[in-house]
Amino acid sequence: MNLYFDNAATTKLSERALQAYIDTSSLVWGNPSSVHKLGLEAKKKLQEEREKIAKLMGTSPSRLFFTSGATESIASVFSSLLFTTPGRIIISRIEHEAVASWLPVLKQHGWDAVTLKAKGGFVSPDELRENLTPDTKLVAVMAVNNVTGAIEPIEELVQTVREFERTIKRHIFFFSDSVQALGKIDYDITALDIDGASFSGHKINGPRGIGMLYLKQPSSFRPLAPAGGQESGKRGGTENLPAISALRAALEEWMPDMKENSARISALKARITDTLQDEGFEIISPEHSSPYIISFASALPSEVYTRMLSDKGVYVSSGSACSNNAKGEGEKILLGMGVRPEKARNAVRISLSKDTTEEDVEALIQILRETR
Ligand code: PLP
Repeated sequence: MNLYFDNAATTKLSERALQAYIDTSSLVWGNPSSVHKLGLEAKKKLQEEREKIAKLMGTSPSRLFFTSGATESIASVFSSLLFTTPGRIIISRIEHEAVASWLPVLKQHGWDAVTLKAKGGFVSPDELRENLTPDTKLVAVMAVNNVTGAIEPIEELVQTVREFERTIKRHIFFFSDSVQALGKIDYDITALDIDGASFSGHKINGPRGIGMLYLKQPSSFRPLAPAGGQESGKRGGTENLPAISALRAALEEWMPDMKENSARISALKARITDTLQDEGFEIISPEHSSPYIISFASALPSEVYTRMLSDKGVYVSSGSACSNNAKGEGEKILLGMGVRPEKARNAVRISLSKDTTEEDVEALIQILRETR
């Protein structure tokens, strides 16, 4: 039996996404930068895919830049700071390592880095307000936490920053790592008035190695190096057109039914959460969290419990599990939101997908009861 409940780590490539990848690889394989016929065809295809993706995401094609994944999108924004006069950067204590790992780098370059607590899982607009200073250049708070699923109050946080800007008469870049929000919660980047966001293909049944950087005002963004000048000079390197087509296909499967999927998955999440509580497990995920993520603590260290489940064909994760190298990342995030150390050590994450069925959930519940 294979019960895959680790969809926040990665998802299986969908058949439609795979087909789109194959079609573009075999039919439109020219380099979009070449000026001959094949190149022009590829350029046209790239533009068409960008337009379709932008429409699905409710934004303009000129604001989306394809990258190799969210990690690169984030790196592009944070590394661009190295060009500017150091000031203050504010991030939350529950950011993914793709963001958090930039703090020591920036500190080394003279930046003053402040981390905001996330009591109960949420970053507080009041705490943000208290930490904004006239030299603050960037604020980064993720949209949905990858360990607990907490949906952060991005609208209020952005508003807090915009109000402060009026007193200093200078713009502050608001960045939101939006990987776990895409296709899973009602998330309108344009309405939220954020300046930059990162997205990843492989969390929504697209391929690995494709992601996006959203920039509200691309003209004011200068990457560390434009390299070959692709992506309007924001990201060099030959565009991964087959993966871009596959990402578009994956978005076509996720975006139109976002609300219906979310309602169905919420009911499955409630069923799992109720069972966990009945069986005496402690729920860590806050109430206001993604329908797709459940964090809870068992009585055993998380590596032991996840191994026990794996032996029974149930695949979940201990902590964030975006990378084996970033050991303890999930634990760090849980401690950052005030979870007791013993509970953080025993934390397990179950993450669902839009394709998770009731049968999958009933089989999971059976095993959770057996392994109690
Ligand atoms: N940010 C969050 C919240 C994530 O869950 C992940 C997952 O790995 C990443 C960033 C990194 O994404 P990618 O694998 O596309 O680099």
